[in-house]
Amino acid sequence: MSLDGTYDDANIFALILQGKIPSMKLYEDDTTFAFLDIMPQTRGHALVISKWSKARNLLEIEDEALAQVMATTKKVATAIRKALNPDGIQIAQFNGAPAGQTIFHLHVHILPRWEGDPKGFAAHGAGAMADKDALQVLAEEIRAQF
Ligand code: AMP
Repeated sequence: MSLDGTYDDANIFALILQGKIPSMKLYEDDTTFAFLDIMPQTRGHALVISKWSKARNLLEIEDEALAQVMATTKKVATAIRKALNPDGIQIAQFNGAPAGQTIFHLHVHILPRWEGDPKGFAAHGAGAMADKDALQVLAEEIRAQF
């Protein structure tokens, strides 16, 4: 999918927001939602989305929704730091399939990073599904830091 197109109300993140598929929630407020990535590229890999914006990418998002998403990104990154003590935190965001975007509801990736670990990011996902119980434990550890 290119940068131009129509928002699909049945995209995976829309379905998570509608409660139609489960997610490992980390944080929620009136306007934003944060949860663990199910194919994490680092331990604690999280995603932040707007609950109301139908922007598919950065070029479409309302300034207000973007500010809300970034404020939540900061909050969640802070909680992840407290929970997991990473050496660095990478914030990533992709626009259009050629840039690595696979889900067309704007989202920000939060990737805790540790010295000595590989620094790469696999466009189009890591490919390996995380263990559900391990993700649950991790989500609880992070949620306890808010
Ligand atoms: P992007 O490549 O920027 O579009 O990122 C989409 C991300 O969503 C990838 O890192 C996927 O692993 C992740 N993902 C896909 N399905 C789900 C899901 N049901 N719950 C949580 N994360 C998901």
